[in-house]
Amino acid sequence: MKLIELRNITKTYGQGQAQFQALKGVNLSIDKGDFVAVMGPSGSGKSTAMNILGCLDVPTGGEYQFRDVQVEKLDRNERALLRRYYFGFVFQGFNLLARTSAQENVELPLLYRGEPSSVRHHLAKAALEKVGLSRWWDHTPAELSGGQQQRVAIARAIVTQPELLLADEPTGNLDSQRSHEIMELLVSLNREQGITILMVTHEPDMAEYAKRIVTFVDGNVASDVRNAEKPAKTPEPEQALLADALRSEVIDAVE
Ligand code: ADP
Ligand code: MG
Repeated sequence: MKLIELRNITKTYGQGQAQFQALKGVNLSIDKGDFVAVMGPSGSGKSTAMNILGCLDVPTGGEYQFRDVQVEKLDRNERALLRRYYFGFVFQGFNLLARTSAQENVELPLLYRGEPSSVRHHLAKAALEKVGLSRWWDHTPAELSGGQQQRVAIARAIVTQPELLLADEPTGNLDSQRSHEIMELLVSLNREQGITILMVTHEPDMAEYAKRIVTFVDGNVASDVRNAEKPAKTPEPEQALLADALRSEVIDAVE
């Protein structure tokens, strides 16, 4: 089933002499359940495209269809509803609230949605469990490693059970080991929960985890290739979470 269709999407920043065309007529279609890595040189329009897809920004021209909704016809409030009910966001810098526990950070999107506290607690607890951080629910970001902070951010992104997860360089601030762990988590969310994922990355190793690689060059899609189907190279999710919990315990004991 088709989830997203972009037709001839353009984006121009600035006015007059300072005008810059960041997207020059992007066409892209994404099926439900796909896992797309977006690659390409710096300045090629990857973040601009992601922001438009996530309704954080609007295109200058073209059509954006999400399910059966023509997104370019929506007003500001309708776009906010789409974000709240259908999209989850993960950024390179985690963007967690500093003096706030993991649990409360994860509850935030539910608070915006007006969910009562019992529902927020229950869903946030389940989301923290999915990312292997149950034990860390009352820790603030400063008390967590970078990899753990990104897991909290992923829990916050999936707590609303979004249809589409948008991740802009989610492993950009992490070392190689943590990056692979985050990718394994994204693969399992895609496989087990059927969440469609769109992820910008500079690293070919990370893009290998995706099902498909779309490369942007100079404001346009320059190539679009499917990765070969691989047998699951990740361990069973429960084992992965268990291994992670054990690892956390070890780190905990050492620190
Ligand atoms: P990427 O994520 O691929 O590195 P971006 O989508 O962030 O690229 O940016 C594409 C181009 O648009 C760049 O040349 C950037 O300088 C320009 N750009 C991005 N955002 C703005 C903005 N708010 N105002 C003006 N130019 C912008
Ligand atoms: Mg970018």
